[in-house]
Amino acid sequence: MFKKILIANRGEIALRIIRACKEMDIKSVTVYSEADKTSPHARYSDEAYYIGESPSSESYLNQKKIISIAKQVGVDAIHPGYGFFSENVEFIKAVEEEGITFIGPSSSSVRMMGTKTAARQLMNQNNVPIVPGSISPINKISEGLEEAQKISYPVLLKSAAGGGGKGMKLVRSENEFAPSFESVKREALKFFADDSVYIEKYIENPKHIEVQIFGDKFGNYVHVFERECSIQRRHQKIIEESPSFYIDNNLRKKITQTALNAAKACGYYNAGTIEFLVDRDFNFYFLEMNTRLQVEHPVSEMISGLDLVKEQINIAAGNELSFQQEDIGISGHAIEARIYAEDPENNFLPSTGKLLDLQLPSGPGIRIDAGFTRGSLISLYYDPLIAKLVSWGKTREEALKRLKRALGEFQIVGVSTNVQFLKAICNNDNFIIGNYDINFIDKEFANENSNNIPDSNDMENAAVIISSLLKMRKSSGEIRTSIMNNNKWTDLQNG
Ligand code: ADP
Repeated sequence: MFKKILIANRGEIALRIIRACKEMDIKSVTVYSEADKTSPHARYSDEAYYIGESPSSESYLNQKKIISIAKQVGVDAIHPGYGFFSENVEFIKAVEEEGITFIGPSSSSVRMMGTKTAARQLMNQNNVPIVPGSISPINKISEGLEEAQKISYPVLLKSAAGGGGKGMKLVRSENEFAPSFESVKREALKFFADDSVYIEKYIENPKHIEVQIFGDKFGNYVHVFERECSIQRRHQKIIEESPSFYIDNNLRKKITQTALNAAKACGYYNAGTIEFLVDRDFNFYFLEMNTRLQVEHPVSEMISGLDLVKEQINIAAGNELSFQQEDIGISGHAIEARIYAEDPENNFLPSTGKLLDLQLPSGPGIRIDAGFTRGSLISLYYDPLIAKLVSWGKTREEALKRLKRALGEFQIVGVSTNVQFLKAICNNDNFIIGNYDINFIDKEFANENSNNIPDSNDMENAAVIISSLLKMRKSSGEIRTSIMNNNKWTDLQNG
């Protein structure tokens, strides 16, 4: 087993990994930026090293610096968490070339699933159902019009290198096609430094359901059931649960088997997630694979009793999976709500400042994964996720009651948060009975959501910043967008 692991991340996920290391008697090393000098992740690890100025490009995305510290302090492995370098082929290769183990999949699996079109091609060849549409980028408008006619309107134009819900446009009819195509191409180039665009059939009112999988380096595969992630704002998840009440055992068997086939198709090992859209007739379609640990992994841990981070470390160390499929089952129900420092009164823009008070909920069935303590600074530079609140109950009803109760226990002073908005979701009749799809927030909270869309100037400026960061990173992944706040920009922390 490893003796020392460097955690190339920050916030709640760095703390989550430190906890796994401590339970496994592995020394943890963290890195921190100027803005994170007093952050809990830097204090709780066994060793912590300063890596640079606050912008991610000068700290958490400084590949050379991170690898040089890893070598200097003699770590056996690097855990990337989610976001930052977690899906960066170049970084994974550089780590491996130094004889350090990357806690995650091989760089070739990441590359195979790295762009949406490449992943769609591979899935198509391996009989994994994909959303109908093109499997390679569309070069000309005429080509796109032909494809759209084949699958019939409405269609979605998507950036092949896209992430974070950016670079997507709904096209309802032929005359909207040309201007939308040009606009997605422009946006894709700005956000992702790659203007490849392809077409998917727009699935009306689907559910977003994803399967947690694991593979080891000996070709063994297991799944850890599904997560229901349809509660999204601007295509980004805010509440996730497991299991999905929408899925019966028959469908569960099919979708989890398909997810395992998808993982095998790219020779995958370590933790991964296969995302699907499930339509109203229970047809499911591959959306994309996330080749890393997900933000929402705790709900899978709560219902399975597994520790997914320890399992990641175990597999990376060259051991076989510590359990087989028949060893695990679904126990009860878990729901996660993401607590963000953002201002619902101001288009949900990030809210920054010092946490003058931070009282976290506790009690039966409650787990909190937080990245901050009282006195911490929520800075402009990173994703404004304060904490993940996860509830568990014997039934969905109990888990939801606990979640609501716990939301009421938060006391956060110093920044605005989305806690009231989460409470409103928990009190919504359709959410309570489980009647929702990916358009839930648009449908049920039209007023709150309608003024959420940043104006075009903000988007243009955001695009320029994101594009330059992405150029540096040369990776695709899930991105939480940079947003302007007080004329400054929050940086990106993928996830
Ligand atoms: P990203 O990589 O930017 O997160 P995804 O392809 O994973 O993009 O899609 C994000 C979300 O966008 C999905 O969870 C879903 O809500 C919506 N979406 C994506 N593709 C489609 C589609 N073909 N039809 C309907 N909704 C879609």
